[in-house]
Amino acid sequence: MSTTELLAPDGPSKGTITLVHLYPREMSIYGDRGNTHALASRIRRHGYTAEVVLHDPGSPFRDDAHLLMGGGGQDSGQARVEADLEAVGPTLASMAADGVPMLMICGMYQLFGNSFHTVTGQELPGLGILDVTTRGNDKRMVGPVCVETEWGPVVGYENHSGSTVLGEGQQPFGRVLAGYGNNGEDGTEGARTRNVIGTYLHGPLLPANPMVSDALIAVAAERATGGPFEPEPMSDPLADEARGRQVRRLVGTR
Ligand code: GLN
Repeated sequence: MSTTELLAPDGPSKGTITLVHLYPREMSIYGDRGNTHALASRIRRHGYTAEVVLHDPGSPFRDDAHLLMGGGGQDSGQARVEADLEAVGPTLASMAADGVPMLMICGMYQLFGNSFHTVTGQELPGLGILDVTTRGNDKRMVGPVCVETEWGPVVGYENHSGSTVLGEGQQPFGRVLAGYGNNGEDGTEGARTRNVIGTYLHGPLLPANPMVSDALIAVAAERATGGPFEPEPMSDPLADEARGRQVRRLVGTR
């Protein structure tokens, strides 16, 4: 059963942004739920109401969502959401094509691609929203990551056996400055198509990289209200400090 929670801002609300977290039980490891908490709290701080929907397999899907989040999971967790993903897949694909912002981490990133061939030989078909293909390996890619993106350096932590290759013309999320990224070889990390971001970065990603949260929320707010995003001024000293330290540790002074 899906659950829904409404988080209102302290003052008058500028509008309600519906955020759907896909499969929180099966697909939320290494703190990925923190991404949903970060988005919801930031939506409130910007003066909007956050309607947070935790979507479980088999529940009616909220195709009116303004923002989607999906986390990582074991290969077994990915297999458990396959049936529901197949059912909601066409809706997700048309929402993605329409520009709905989505952040898909690790296991869900793999399932938003064309397919995931696991290390045990299982073939998990993907949604094909991102033109990427993943193959499991015996060697896991584990450790801290720093990626150069259009929002500056983004930091996180990766742990995956899947090695992902981008299709020709598929834009990455960013360029690896430290860590493995998609496959440890071609210097790419994640994938981005319209407002859909797939990435291997756990951490969770968003609390340490609030500029990515704001980019997603800006599009979601425009979709929710039909008007421009009206952000509140915000400073993020702790996040900036945490990210800056990680960047300095991984890639030196910048
Ligand atoms: N099961 C996938 C892999 O190991 C995803 C892991 C994850 O989400 N951290 O490649």
